[in-house]
Amino acid sequence: MKKDMTKKLFCDEQIYDKKLTVSELSVGGVIEAGTAVNFHTGSWRSQRPVWVKERCISCLVCWISCPDSCIKIAPDEKKITVVTGIDYDYCKGCGICAKECLSKIKAINMENEKK
Ligand code: SF4
Ligand code: SF4
Repeated sequence: MKKDMTKKLFCDEQIYDKKLTVSELSVGGVIEAGTAVNFHTGSWRSQRPVWVKERCISCLVCWISCPDSCIKIAPDEKKITVVTGIDYDYCKGCGICAKECLSKIKAINMENEKK
């Protein structure tokens, strides 16, 4: 039986240590859907979005704009959906949320990542 390559296909040590053989790859190199959760793309980030709760009008434009679904939302005490934060495990720091933020005083600003 073939190994489950879902988590391994793009794993650095598998690629660069050349531990994979062709016969271990899936047919056509097709990768299962929903594997993004396995890759903490936040480690690539050079800038991070910083959300300021007090400025946020919870229009959710950042939420629909984020290509990586990193804007966290939840219902508040009135059961209205509001932004609650940013998932830095997966945020790549593209800055789209900050660019699209509709608040008059930007509620998301990009800052240099501190490593
Ligand atoms: S910087 Fe990009 S990836 Fe990160 S939360 Fe904003 S839109 Fe999403
Ligand atoms: S776009 Fe700006 S104001 Fe709108 S929910 Fe996001 S952070 Fe808040």
